[in-house]
Amino acid sequence: MNLNNPSLLKTSAYINGAWVEAKDNKTFPVHNPFDGSVIAHAADCGKDETSKAIEAAEKAFLSWKKFTASKRSRILKKWHQLILANVDDLAKILTLEQGKPLAEAKGEIKYGASFVEWFAEEAKRVYGDTIPGHMSDKRIVTIKQAVGVVAAITPWNFPNAMITRKVAPALAAGCTVIIKPSELTPLSAFALAELADQAGFPHGVINILSGSDAPSIGEEMCANKKVRKLSFTGSTRVGKILLKQCADTVKKVSMELGGNAPFIVFNDADIDEAVKGAIASKYRNAGQTCICSNRIFAQAEIYDAFTSKLAEASKELSVGNGLDEGIHVGPMIEEKAIASIENLMEDAKAKGAEILTGGHRIEGTSKLNYAPTVLTKVHPEMKIFSQEIFGPIAPVFKFETLEEVINLANDTEYGLACYFYGKDYAMIWKVAEALEYGMVGINTGMISTAVAPFGGVKESGFGREGSKYGMDDYLEIKYMCWGGID
Ligand code: ADP
Repeated sequence: MNLNNPSLLKTSAYINGAWVEAKDNKTFPVHNPFDGSVIAHAADCGKDETSKAIEAAEKAFLSWKKFTASKRSRILKKWHQLILANVDDLAKILTLEQGKPLAEAKGEIKYGASFVEWFAEEAKRVYGDTIPGHMSDKRIVTIKQAVGVVAAITPWNFPNAMITRKVAPALAAGCTVIIKPSELTPLSAFALAELADQAGFPHGVINILSGSDAPSIGEEMCANKKVRKLSFTGSTRVGKILLKQCADTVKKVSMELGGNAPFIVFNDADIDEAVKGAIASKYRNAGQTCICSNRIFAQAEIYDAFTSKLAEASKELSVGNGLDEGIHVGPMIEEKAIASIENLMEDAKAKGAEILTGGHRIEGTSKLNYAPTVLTKVHPEMKIFSQEIFGPIAPVFKFETLEEVINLANDTEYGLACYFYGKDYAMIWKVAEALEYGMVGINTGMISTAVAPFGGVKESGFGREGSKYGMDDYLEIKYMCWGGID
């Protein structure tokens, strides 16, 4: 791998400030999804290494929590600067192991860095309250304290930003962390650890370990009493397993799980803007994000105009190797992912869906490159209505009334992001209030930013990441009741 700063390519686990191999030097291969080549072998850690990392984090917590907020903030700021100074290398590593186009990878690194900057600032604003006492001799004060050792499990679709979004607020609050990135994308995580090391975090404050046996690492994180909080981003299926496992030690938990985002276009919408928004929210990361629009609903009057413009715009997207100039859509992460969307396509076609564009893998590039696809004549009995697609397929449903589309949009166990386009301001308020989702994009398909609270409702999880609320998940409120003050 050709990097400006070769020290960023690490393959060992980072535990207690040292790069260490897994027991018996066990490793597992990391692949480039574009051509299947092996780009590195990463340390294959399990329960024992996890338990060592937890011990290191527990020890480091004793001193890290006592650092002044501004001292923690300074180290976080240094980390932020180092991440930005190494954007090109970090993006290259990310594209190589994950597949997304280089420009998108750079965008992710900057987005990831923005959480570090934001929480470096928030570290200094962890305020408590004074509360008017309930008796004349009483005074009541609250303080907020770091939860303790935090375990974070992160997915492959944002190998950088899903780490910083959890770790930066945790560190800012005074917690220490153990991170398990996805086994598909450990290199971006290690590169972040290398920069954290250079930034000067004390040993044990940040620990990162990879492993091919995610359940055994997860079980130790959940069962170990020293871990006081688990933050997870990934599938609802795995989130439910972790929630059950955390019950025994009654850990604080945050869950950022799957989505089934509706994207609604009303008759009075600006169609061209809606198409732009749909393209951005649908095809980012080849459709593999939990806030990608999953079910597009267009109102009857504009249905034909919208679908044909969407199909035209989808055809314009170039699909190929994320490292090549001008590529908009990279390969999907693995064969399993593409097989899953092919299964949804078979079901939709068998039930009468019509393909306006796409609907196949792309010949002559990667076998994981799938064409941006627009489907019409779709209906709620198709699997594509209720399942998270996680691929570049845009099914467009037709609706007549506002009430009908709200019911359809809410007819899912998920509740992460939703989007709609329209102009009538009273209707906008009504729709935004009626949609059972944690995040609403109104006349925009791009909603992610460090300054706003990211998170879901229903089976999309709980907890908020980013914004002034993002620290709450890593803090406990303690209240002190002072008596005898007569
Ligand atoms: P996705 O479908 O996006 O791959 P997963 O929920 O399978 O999402 O994976 C998200 C993260 O959860 C990854 O880091 C993966 O290794 C981890 N993971 C998967 N299964 C388990 C498990 N049983 N316990 C702990 N972590 C797990």
